[in-house]
Amino acid sequence: MKYYSTNGKAPIADLQKAVVKGLAEDRGLYMPEAIKLLPKVFFDNIQEMNFQQIAYNVASAFFGEDVDLDALQDIVYDTLSFDCPVKQVKENIYALELFHGPTLAFKDVGARFMARLLQYFIRQEAGGRSQETGDVNVLVATSGDTGSAVANGFLGVEGIHVYVLYPKGKVSPIQECQFTTLGKNITAIEVDGVFDDCQTLVKSAFMDEELNQHMMLTSANSINVARFLPQAFYYFNAFARMKALGKAGNLVMCVPSGNFGNICSALFGHEMGLPIKRFIAANNANDIFFKYLQTGKYEPKASVQTLANAMDVGDPSNFARIINLYSQNNKLTDEATHHRITNLISGATYSNEQIKETMRQCYAETGYILDPHGACGYQALVDGLQPGEIGVFCETAHPAKFKEKVDDILGTDVEIPERLAAFMRGEKQSVEMTKDFADFKAYLMKQ
Ligand SMILES: *Cc1c(COP(=O)(O)O)cnc(C)c1O
Repeated sequence: MKYYSTNGKAPIADLQKAVVKGLAEDRGLYMPEAIKLLPKVFFDNIQEMNFQQIAYNVASAFFGEDVDLDALQDIVYDTLSFDCPVKQVKENIYALELFHGPTLAFKDVGARFMARLLQYFIRQEAGGRSQETGDVNVLVATSGDTGSAVANGFLGVEGIHVYVLYPKGKVSPIQECQFTTLGKNITAIEVDGVFDDCQTLVKSAFMDEELNQHMMLTSANSINVARFLPQAFYYFNAFARMKALGKAGNLVMCVPSGNFGNICSALFGHEMGLPIKRFIAANNANDIFFKYLQTGKYEPKASVQTLANAMDVGDPSNFARIINLYSQNNKLTDEATHHRITNLISGATYSNEQIKETMRQCYAETGYILDPHGACGYQALVDGLQPGEIGVFCETAHPAKFKEKVDDILGTDVEIPERLAAFMRGEKQSVEMTKDFADFKAYLMKQ
């Protein structure tokens, strides 16, 4: 499979290049040249298959031309070592729980898949040569969630070292322990600054020629095709589980969205023939996509902080992919593209007050504990579901990841899953760093 850039000004790339580079030379996002329709027999029998089998079929359609099929199966099975059940919350509304992975949030699947795919390509390269190639070094800046998913996804993956840069004192203790206590091939770098300083350090490192001569650097950004495409597995599996319940006829899929990678993968699934009737993108107060649906105008702005902070995005990267998909790579007019998008996707936006109210109401009515991100998805279904439709919303994080907020809002004492408790017992190890690039560079040059 070849990959082109949404900006249309970069050379076509193969999968390996798209994964290693992340972003195209023209700063566009990579798109696969073809999206394969899966055969009818796959959908006819999908309810008989388990999550791993379904995912392997989907992965083969995306990556089967570029990755040896046995290796691909191994990567898929290793990535999906946990389940993503659908649970009924109330009449016609189901939660798709994407939080049973290592760091209890949905980014785990993409991060692990990318780590294993990158390792596959490194081994392919090394195979032809007699001497060992050096490590590949992944740099990632995080305000909390991405760092933990990437660190755990890459943990113990031979040939790859990960540096997680995070702002000192600005990440909650529950989040911090998920990437500072791992050791092995994961180094946490505690930067005396804010998140933007971390991101600037990473960007400067990629542009520094001397550093790039010294070590091979790559990013694990969420726009990477190896991180976002595997999320489509979730939606095929959800369809299968709903079909087994006899409830898949009129499905509405609702995705709490920030950078729009998750919903974008669902839309790719739809293009592959997944019979979802329509989608809802649920936003917090960062309502740029919601406004686009209303007006046809895309007006990015600075993000505002909310209770659902993993969705605090003012200029969602994957918007470019959605536009590219429905404009047929810019062949359609803006109006025609907008029309196609609004026919399939609707929006919703919720303030912090509404998120709290939703969490309280849902808990009182049903006993189900929503996290602030999932709350946006749940409420969008309560508000938007039409008669005869069945709604499934993604519960993107375990409520214990936001325990302080959730307990405060609901008056609960949410139980901390053992996996998270184990992180909290671990010993924090980090390297202190200033926000001065010269210091960061000097540190990396010694590695
Ligand atoms: C990243 C994240 C989101 C938003 O997903 P996007 O793919 O960026 O739209 C929602 N909820 C949680 C818990 C997340 O970590």
